[in-house]
Amino acid sequence: MTFRLLIAASFASVGCISAQDLVTVFLDFDHPPSGISFAEMKREAATVIAAAGLAVEWKPLPETQGVETFSRLAVLRFRGRCDSERRLEKYSGGDVLGLTNLDGNRVLPFGEILCDAVREWLAAPAGAFGYAQRAQVYGRALGRVVAHELYHIFGNTLLHDLAGIAKATQSGADLRSRRARLEAPAAQRLRGNVNGARRGFFHAPSNPAVY
Ligand SMILES: [Zn+2]
Repeated sequence: MTFRLLIAASFASVGCISAQDLVTVFLDFDHPPSGISFAEMKREAATVIAAAGLAVEWKPLPETQGVETFSRLAVLRFRGRCDSERRLEKYSGGDVLGLTNLDGNRVLPFGEILCDAVREWLAAPAGAFGYAQRAQVYGRALGRVVAHELYHIFGNTLLHDLAGIAKATQSGADLRSRRARLEAPAAQRLRGNVNGARRGFFHAPSNPAVY
């Protein structure tokens, strides 16, 4: 049976790693973000994950041939509308911002980012921004949710921490703040799994519909 590990909205570094290991992340959008948001999302997620000594390679899932192999692979599907410029009806889907699929206690390399929930969570304060700044803030928030799910996937861990990107719940202020980081315990957990647990290669998914 497949379970899901959630990152929810809430009301309320490790240094000296020289060698970077490459992780490949396939992206699939129901509705793609703007160029500004997309660039900012990738920059923010890569910056956070770099604290564990990982470099991220991004690939569009629809373009995969299903024959490539990768040593470390994740697939993220982005649900809903991922553009910040569009003013939508109030989102009523709940407080979950992202999730990672589980098989028992084993973390599967499949995650989902709920774009409408992230936008709604930022909507009121971000509404005061101009287009470019709003797109940037939204992209950065998406990047933090992405980094949280990649922490679970590449760390093969269900654990959460009390601070930083590995917190189970993120406030609007967390998502809007100028800087977010993977705190040392989470970075060490992630780094430890990458160093020790992974063997062999994963094949690229040949059917994007299989989750
Ligand atoms: Zn989580």
